[in-house]
Amino acid sequence: MSNYVQECIELCKKNNPGEVEFHQTVEEVLSSLAPVMEKHPEYEKAAILERLTEPERGITFRVVWTDDNGNVQVNKGYRYQFNSAIGPYKGGLRFAPNVYPGIIKFLGFEQIFKNSLTGLPIGGGKGGADFDPNGKSDAEIMRFCQAYMTELYRHIGPETDVPAGDLGVGAREVGYMFGQYKRLVNRFEGVLTGKGLSYGGLQGRTEATGYGIVFFANAMLEANGEKLAGKEVAISGFGNVAWGTAQKLNELGAKLVTISGPDGYIHDPNGISGEKVAYMLELRNSGKNVCAPYADKFPGSTFVAGKKPWEVKADLYIPCATQNEILIDDAKTIVAHGCKFVCEGSNMSSTNEAIKYLQDNGIIVGPSKAANAGGVACSCIEMGQNSGKTVFTPEQVYAQLENIMVGIHDACANASQTYGFGYNLVAGANVAGFLKVADAMMAQGL
Ligand code: GLU
Repeated sequence: MSNYVQECIELCKKNNPGEVEFHQTVEEVLSSLAPVMEKHPEYEKAAILERLTEPERGITFRVVWTDDNGNVQVNKGYRYQFNSAIGPYKGGLRFAPNVYPGIIKFLGFEQIFKNSLTGLPIGGGKGGADFDPNGKSDAEIMRFCQAYMTELYRHIGPETDVPAGDLGVGAREVGYMFGQYKRLVNRFEGVLTGKGLSYGGLQGRTEATGYGIVFFANAMLEANGEKLAGKEVAISGFGNVAWGTAQKLNELGAKLVTISGPDGYIHDPNGISGEKVAYMLELRNSGKNVCAPYADKFPGSTFVAGKKPWEVKADLYIPCATQNEILIDDAKTIVAHGCKFVCEGSNMSSTNEAIKYLQDNGIIVGPSKAANAGGVACSCIEMGQNSGKTVFTPEQVYAQLENIMVGIHDACANASQTYGFGYNLVAGANVAGFLKVADAMMAQGL
C-alpha cells in the first residue's frame, strides 16, 4: 500500500479516536485506492483523501421530548454532511441506542461512494439519534420525531441535504418529521425521501433496496456464468431490506431458506415464499418477533434461537440486518459450505478480515455500498418526482432501478479490471465511487 494511503488511514484514526466502525470503513475504502493514487499524483497534492475522510460539516444536537408518563427525556441527535461534490447531501437517519458519531460517520462515509455509484447527482450524508424506538408508543415516536426535526430543519432543504430512513426510521417516522418540517418552514417541498404515497412518496421506494440487491446479485451471478433461478439463498433480518429481497428472490425463482430476527433464525428447507412472506410481514408490522411464531405455524421449518443463519448451507448468502453480521468465524463457516457468492444487503455487513477470508477462498463478494444502492437511487428518483411535480408509476421505477443496479455492477467490474484487481467488486466499488467524486472535487477547487 502506498505511504500516502497508509498515512491517511492513520490520520483518520488519530483524529477520530475510538470510532472503530468509521476506522473500519476508511481502512477498507482507502486500501483499494492505492493504485489510483499511484496513477494520479495530483490527488495527493490536493490532499484528496484527507478531505474525503473529514466531513464537510458535523451537527450534534440535543433532542428533548416527553414520554407517556410525563417524564422529560434527552437524546443526542446527529447529522454528518460528508461530501457535496456531486450533489446535495443524501443519506438516511438511524434511530438506535448504539448510535454515536463512529456509526454515523461510517455510514456517511460509505454513502459518498454508494451515491456516486448510482450515477445520480447526490452527495453523501447520514444522521440519526441514540433513541431506541423499541417499546415506544406511537405518541412517543411522534413527539421524538418532532423534537428531532425542530432542531434539524435549519440544516436541511431539498437542494441542501435530503435525509431518509435507515434502521429505526420508516415511513411513519419520515411522515412525522416531514409534517414538523413543513410546519416550521411553511413550505411543501421534497426535503425527505421515503415519504408516504399520499404526500409525495415514490411508488416502489419501500421495496427498492431489497429489489436492487437482488438485481445486483443476479448481475454478479450472470457475470460468472450462473443463474439465480433454482439457487438456495440464506438471508438475515426481516426489516424492509430483507422483505424486498425475499420478494424479488422468489419472483426470480430462487429458493429462500432462512430469515432472521433479534430472537434467532428460521430454517425452512421448503422455501419461504407466498403466504409465508405475507405472514412474517403481518407479524413484523404488529411489532412481534417473526421467527418463533413462524416455526409454530409452518411444519418442516425450524427455529434456532440466538444464532445467525450462516450455519445453514446455501448457494448465496445475503446479510440484510445490520453492520458486522459476518465475522471471521462466520466467513469460515460460509467457506466450509462450499458456496460461491455473498452479496451484502446491510451496510458494511462484514468485517474487513471476513471479506478478505471470503475472497482469499474464492468467494465472490458484492459489497453493500454497491449492492444496496438501489434504495438511495430510488430516493433520488423521488427527489426528481417532487421537484418536477409529477408522479412515476412503479413500472417506471422498477425499470430504472434494474438498469441502475446492472450499471453499478458493470462499473465496479470495469474499475476493478482497469486498476489491476481482476474481478473484485469490493475494490471496484471503491475505485469507481471515488473517481467521480474526486474528479468533481478537483474541478471545484479548494
Ligand atoms: N439508509 C439508506 C442507505 O443506507 C437509504 C438512504 C436514502 O435513501 O437517502 O442507503
